Amino acid sequence: MEGALTARDRVGIQDFVLLDTHTSENAFLDNLKKRFNEDLIYTYIGTLLVSVNPYKQLDIYSKKQMDIYMGVNFFELPPHIYALADNAYHTMLAEANNHFILISGESGAGKTEASKKILQYYAVSCPSVSPMDRVRDRMLLSNPVLEAFGNAKTLKNDNSSRFGKYMDIQFDIQGEAVGGHILSYLLEKSRVVHQNQGERNFHIFYQLVEGGEEDLLRQLGLESNSQHYSYLVKGQCANMTSVNDQNDWRTVRNALSSIEFDNGDIQDLFGVIASVLHLGNVQFESDNKGNAKLNNTCSYVLLSNIFTIQVLSPFTVDYATYARDALAKAIYGRAFTWLVNKINESMENKVSRHSKKTVIGLLDIYGFEVFYVNSFEQFCINYCNEKLQQLFIQLTLKSEQEEYEAEGIGWEPVQFFNNKIICDLVEEKHRGIISLLDEECLRPGEATDLTFLERLEEKMGSHPHFVTHKLADKTTRKTLERGDFRLLHYAGEVTYCVVGFLDKNNDLLYRNIKDVSSRGRKQGGREEEGLFQPVASQFKSSLVGLTDILMSKEPWYVRCLKSNESKQPGRFDDSLVLHQVKYLGLTEHLRVRRAGFAYRRRYEVFLQRYKPLCPATWPHWKGLPADGVEVLVRHLGYQPDEYKMGRTKIFIRHPRTLFATEDAFEI
Ligand code: ATP
Ligand code: MG
Repeated sequence: MEGALTARDRVGIQDFVLLDTHTSENAFLDNLKKRFNEDLIYTYIGTLLVSVNPYKQLDIYSKKQMDIYMGVNFFELPPHIYALADNAYHTMLAEANNHFILISGESGAGKTEASKKILQYYAVSCPSVSPMDRVRDRMLLSNPVLEAFGNAKTLKNDNSSRFGKYMDIQFDIQGEAVGGHILSYLLEKSRVVHQNQGERNFHIFYQLVEGGEEDLLRQLGLESNSQHYSYLVKGQCANMTSVNDQNDWRTVRNALSSIEFDNGDIQDLFGVIASVLHLGNVQFESDNKGNAKLNNTCSYVLLSNIFTIQVLSPFTVDYATYARDALAKAIYGRAFTWLVNKINESMENKVSRHSKKTVIGLLDIYGFEVFYVNSFEQFCINYCNEKLQQLFIQLTLKSEQEEYEAEGIGWEPVQFFNNKIICDLVEEKHRGIISLLDEECLRPGEATDLTFLERLEEKMGSHPHFVTHKLADKTTRKTLERGDFRLLHYAGEVTYCVVGFLDKNNDLLYRNIKDVSSRGRKQGGREEEGLFQPVASQFKSSLVGLTDILMSKEPWYVRCLKSNESKQPGRFDDSLVLHQVKYLGLTEHLRVRRAGFAYRRRYEVFLQRYKPLCPATWPHWKGLPADGVEVLVRHLGYQPDEYKMGRTKIFIRHPRTLFATEDAFEI
C-alpha cells in the first residue's frame, strides 16, 4: 500500500550491520528508538547485543520463549538476550573452550537484570540430570541473597549493585550446568554507616528489621522499625514504594535455607547484621577532660576500650564515632566475604569434580555513575568502568584491526577514541592518581586530603583528562570548589571531592581497631600490617586479575543503555541515549563490524571441523591446511566476497555463511 509504513520503517532493523549505508550516530539512534517504541529492546551489531532498558515488564522471558531460542541460529529469530546466551553456549560446546559475557552500561541501564536472564536461561534450558538440579537451583538462589547484601537504592537505581560480580558457570561435556563460582569485587562498605539524601543502606538491613519474625527480632534485640536505627535513616527514605522489604525478606530467608545454610549459620549471619545496627546506635559524649566515653548503658570494657582509647592517647568524641563506623564497615565487609565463600561452597560441583569442564563467565559490575557529590567510591567504580571499556576496545576495535593487518587482509582503519590515556592517568605506576594517593597515605600525620589534592594538581595539572581546581576557573565555565578535582572520563566528566580519600584508601582506623582489640586476645595484631595494601591499589590488582581471567576466554558483549533518567516506562530520551551510544563507541564498533569479518578460524581448526563435508578433504587432507580450506570452501559454494584467506586463518564475513555450513552437517 503506497504511503503506508513498511514493517521495516516501523520496527527498524534488527541488526545494525544491515542498516543501509548509514553508520551515523543519528541513524543509529533512530533505529533504536523505532524499535524501543515497539517494545523491541534488543538489537544486534553482529553478535554484540544492544539492550535498552524499558522500565516495564515485557512478556518476553517465559519458558516458551526460552524454548524458541534453544539451539536456533543467531539470526533466524528476533534479537534476544536468550539468543546470545544460547549462541555462547553452543559455541562453547562445539569448540570445547571457555567464554565470557561482558555486560556493561551505566548505573540503572539493566546489567544485573540481563545477567539474571542469562543465568535463568542456562538453569532452565540446559539438559539436566537430576543430581545436579540442586546446584542449578543454588546458582539461581544466590542472586536474591547477594542482591540483598550487596545492592541498595541509590539516586540512579533502586536496586543498584554496590559490588562487582564475576560468576563462572561450569558445564560438563554434555552441556549440563554442574557448578558455579563467584568472585566479588570491592563492596561499597561506606554505605553501611552513611547514605546520601534519597539513598538507602544495603537492602538486607531493612528486610531484617521490617520483615524479620518476632522471635528472631527478639533474640537479636531488634525493634521492628527501621526508623529506630541511625544507620538506616541517613538518606531519609527507609521505606520506599518500589521495594517490598517484607516479601524480599521471605525470599532471602528461603533462599538461604536452600543454599546449605544451616540454622546456626543463619543465626550467626543475622547476629552480625544486628550487631552492626546496635553499633550504629552507640553514642559517645565528652568527659570532663574532653575525652570520649560511652553515653548509654553499654558498658562492655572491650568495646569501651576500643572506642575511647587508642593505645596511649584517648579518643575525642569525633574520633570515637569514626572508629565505631570503621568497625561497623569492617564487620559488614567480613560478613559479605563470608557469605560469598559460603555460596561458593554450596555451588561447588562435588559430583564430577575431576571431569573436564568448560565455563561461561558472567560479568556484572557497578555501572559508571555521576552524582552531585562524588567521592572515593565513585572514583573506584568509574575507574573500573574505564578498565572494562579498555578491555572492550582491546578485544574488538584494536585487536580486530591489528589482526587484519597481521594476516595481510586489506583494511581501511577505523578511528576510535582509545581511553587508555585515562586508565593510565589513574593507574600508572609511580605517576598515576592511585600511586600518588598511596604515597600520601604513607605520610601519616603530615598528609591530608588537601595535600593529596595539591600533589595531584602539581603532577597532573597539564594532563588533558585532568582538570585541577586552579585550572577549572580559566578553562571551563563550571568552577570547582576548593577540594575538588575533575576527571574527563570516557563516559563524561566527573567532579570528585577529595574529602575522605585518604581515610578510605587506608582503612587506617580499622587497622588501629584490629590492633587494640587483638590485645585483649593475643599478641601479633601487627604481623598482618606488612601485608596491608591500600584499598585502591588492592582494587587495581584485582581488576588486573579479572582482565587476565577474561582475556583467556572468548568474549560476548551485552551493551545496556539507559532510556531515561526518571525510570519511566517507555520513555526514550534522545540525547541521553545518544550520549551513551557515543561514549560506548557503538558506531565505531559497527563500522569495524560492517567492514570486517564476523568469524575467523585457524586453518587447521576449520579444516578439522568441516572436512567431512567435502570428498577431497575427507578423511585426510595431505597438503597444507590453507589449501585444504580453499578446496573445502569452494566445494561448499562460498562466494569470493564472503571470505578472505589470511596468513594463518580464514575470515568469514557473515555469521550466516558459517551457519549454512553447520547446517550442511545435518543434510
Ligand atoms: P547498577 O550499575 O546500578 O547496578 P544495573 O545496570 O545493574 O545498574 P539493573 O539493576 O539491572 O541496572 O536495572 C535497573 C532497573 O531497570 C531494574 O530494577 C528494572 O526495574 C529495570 N530493568 C532493567 N532491565 C529490564 C528489563 N529487561 N525489563 C524490564 N525492566 C528492566
Ligand atoms: Mg547492577
